Amino acid sequence: MSAPLNSRVIVPPARIGFIGLGRMGHPMARNLARAGYGLVAHDVDRDALDRARDATGAEAPESLKATAERCEAVITMLPDGDAVRAVVLGPGDCLLAGFPRGSVLIDMSSSSPLGTRGLGARLAERGVAMLDSPVSGGVRKAADATLSIMVGGDAQIIARCRPILEAMGRQIFITGPLGSGHAMKALNNYVSAAGLVAATEGVLAAQRFGLDPGNVVDILNASTGMNNSTLNKFHRFILSRAFDSGFSLDLMVKDLNTALEVARSTGSPARLAEACLEAWTEAQAALGPGLDHTAVVRYWEKLAGTELGKKRD
Ligand code: NAD
Repeated sequence: MSAPLNSRVIVPPARIGFIGLGRMGHPMARNLARAGYGLVAHDVDRDALDRARDATGAEAPESLKATAERCEAVITMLPDGDAVRAVVLGPGDCLLAGFPRGSVLIDMSSSSPLGTRGLGARLAERGVAMLDSPVSGGVRKAADATLSIMVGGDAQIIARCRPILEAMGRQIFITGPLGSGHAMKALNNYVSAAGLVAATEGVLAAQRFGLDPGNVVDILNASTGMNNSTLNKFHRFILSRAFDSGFSLDLMVKDLNTALEVARSTGSPARLAEACLEAWTEAQAALGPGLDHTAVVRYWEKLAGTELGKKRD
């Protein structure tokens, strides 16, 4: 029998629904199964669902309604907040039709915080709690259960769900009320996207001035210009031309839009964020959909007429 959400005895949910078993959701669900949680899985992509069932032994009922009925907590790991709302509210088959009172939705997707607040209010009317709990660290840290996890919402619900989050991440940061985790995540990705562009422009200009790009990245990494992209992305995904970090350019553009939404809704200056969004959106249009976000450097290469790492003819 599940503990009521306002119970003083904190008992983590035993069976967890997991919706969205893509690049991130699959390894996160696998870690929950390893930690001993029973899983109920759902994905619109049949192959992704079958792979997750094989890896986790998850049940996979035919409907979202049945998924919600069987679980005390449901995690969503979907592309964006619109997809989360569709899964939770419908139209048609949806989690809300099956959620027992006292259950909790944990949205681990990178969703818009304003939409999250609205969704939380709709769920609260039906006695369902919500946490926003996005993650950072990418596919590798999802696989190792070392994600950094931000979580917003009611403190008692967070305490109850904490063991679930700890099965997937190493550092759990409580950010404040519902929506604060999603705001933090979008702003983190803005800072990350700006850092990637700053490094791309610096390395390209250095190469065109005659320096070796690999050497430039090594020097940045030993100097004050170092950032996450110079440390973890340039050699591995960019200069190698592998462009396979596992995080898509389309999702980064979505996150930049969300970060701007947060800045605008709070009347905060965002001159660099505006320029960053514009440049990434242009790159997305020029390069086409479905690319890894590290491939964004190809747009700067096109503008420069220079390929990173390639000698000029
Ligand atoms: P993905 O595209 O690989 O996976 C999304 C999954 O959701 C897919 O399997 C898709 O079939 C499923 N899906 C989409 N709409 C659905 C619906 N209506 N019902 C059921 N299933 C549906 O994306 P991802 O890279 O795993 O990212 C998921 C979320 O995590 C995004 O919000 C992203 O911004 C965030 N994120 C990604 C990374 C990364 O490195 N990939 C890192 C941190 C955060």
